[in-house]
Amino acid sequence: MTAADVYRRIRESVPEHVTVVLACKKRTAAEVAALVEAGATDFGHNYVQEAEAMIDGLGPAAFDVRWHMIGPLQKNKINKALRLFDVVQTVGSADQAQAISERAERMGKTVSVLVEVNSGREPRKSGIMPDFPVAVDLARAIAELPALRLEGLMTMGPFLDDPEGLREPFRATRELFDRLRDENIPGTDIRTLSMGMSDSYEVAVEEGSTMIRVGTMVFGVRPG
Ligand SMILES: *Cc1c(COP(=O)(O)O)cnc(C)c1O
Repeated sequence: MTAADVYRRIRESVPEHVTVVLACKKRTAAEVAALVEAGATDFGHNYVQEAEAMIDGLGPAAFDVRWHMIGPLQKNKINKALRLFDVVQTVGSADQAQAISERAERMGKTVSVLVEVNSGREPRKSGIMPDFPVAVDLARAIAELPALRLEGLMTMGPFLDDPEGLREPFRATRELFDRLRDENIPGTDIRTLSMGMSDSYEVAVEEGSTMIRVGTMVFGVRPG
């Protein structure tokens, strides 16, 4: 099967309301172009520099799809990232949100953002702790920022051999998401729960994910 075939199969296997984001770190523009051709609508990238090269390489096709920043976003890369990405999925603090908003405002842009949740409570992993007071504080802070629109949560979860182990952290993130949405914070539009990767998207969708991020399963094992 080609990558396009695998993409279509995944697209058909998950409910229509679930967005499929193709994680394309370390892939070539030609590989991604074939997926745009096959109807893929959303692509994720972890590295600003590589994303820029890929988007340049794609040419006009790059404008037909949405680009999601799914890796850590350093302060000195924010300006460039804002020119490339439609969504930043990895906001982890009020300071970072403020820095993104200031730069977006200068560019006259509004950026959609997700808050990253460290659903496994792992040391040294990015994202906020999966606790409601923490999440709601950050959500309120983001809601105050003029150039950001908070649309939901993203989580990676621990790396495990058995994806069943992700069910609990995914469920907890879903509960956090529901509570946050029900808070109806003015200035937010909570509707996206980004969780699930190649080996875990089925569990994630069962637990209420509305956006999965798959790479390896579609493109094959990543080159070194
Ligand atoms: C690479 C990556 C993915 C996709 O992982 P696969 O295991 O290749 O499907 C999803 N989310 C993030 C944040 C990633 O960096």
